[in-house]
Amino acid sequence: MTDTLPISEAFLSLQGEGKLTGVPSWFIRLSGCNLRCSWCDTPYASWNPEGDKHAIGDIVRAAVNSGARCAVVTGGEPMIFAKLPELCAQLQSAGMHITIETAGTVFMPAPCDLMSISPKLSNSTPRNDPRDPTGAWAKRHEARRLNPEALLQLIDASPDRPLKFVVTSEADLAEIDELLAAIEKTVRLDPADIMLMPEGATTPDPDSVRWVVDLCLARGWRFCHRLHAQLFGDTRGT
Ligand code: SF4
Repeated sequence: MTDTLPISEAFLSLQGEGKLTGVPSWFIRLSGCNLRCSWCDTPYASWNPEGDKHAIGDIVRAAVNSGARCAVVTGGEPMIFAKLPELCAQLQSAGMHITIETAGTVFMPAPCDLMSISPKLSNSTPRNDPRDPTGAWAKRHEARRLNPEALLQLIDASPDRPLKFVVTSEADLAEIDELLAAIEKTVRLDPADIMLMPEGATTPDPDSVRWVVDLCLARGWRFCHRLHAQLFGDTRGT
């Protein structure tokens, strides 16, 4: 039987976030997520997963034919799919550089060159969200959004493992510090691998994110821009 994965979209673009910002990349968006962030910018891969199942061989062929050297396996949450390791192994055999973008709540031993981990703070919980009328997802999200054990396994699985936090206010700092203190009992992180990304689907007004700039300057952390939002706006396939 052919191995398949559900794909909501696959496209060529410039990486918009993180350490490889600006690098031409083939994006493979797996459809489905174990979380429901209130500000999720790809609800068609989380709140309302769209797309069809595709054979892994076809997914890899499209990536290679794109001409990009880098493949970004994103979601949704790639780590919830049992066939993820097979997809990454085939991309690796084809000579592609692989980034996995994950929220860090589940561990799957999939080969990659860059494990881009974005742990979710409490600002992500969908409180009083009309898409969650019973509040069931808010409870599930809150219970799942941090999994220190999986986080450490993911950090351990790649030499390049930046942590990117989506921030909405200075109140987020206490949560970030608490999580980093727990992680750093086991592993030392490079401050430049701690990224802060202001929440928002559009490019923020510089004055409104000055506090993020100041925090990065004070801590040696990295400010994470959204290049794709600046170049293409809040559109699919970018
Ligand atoms: S983890 Fe990512 S894909 Fe899933 S709901 Fe949150 S932002 Fe959306």
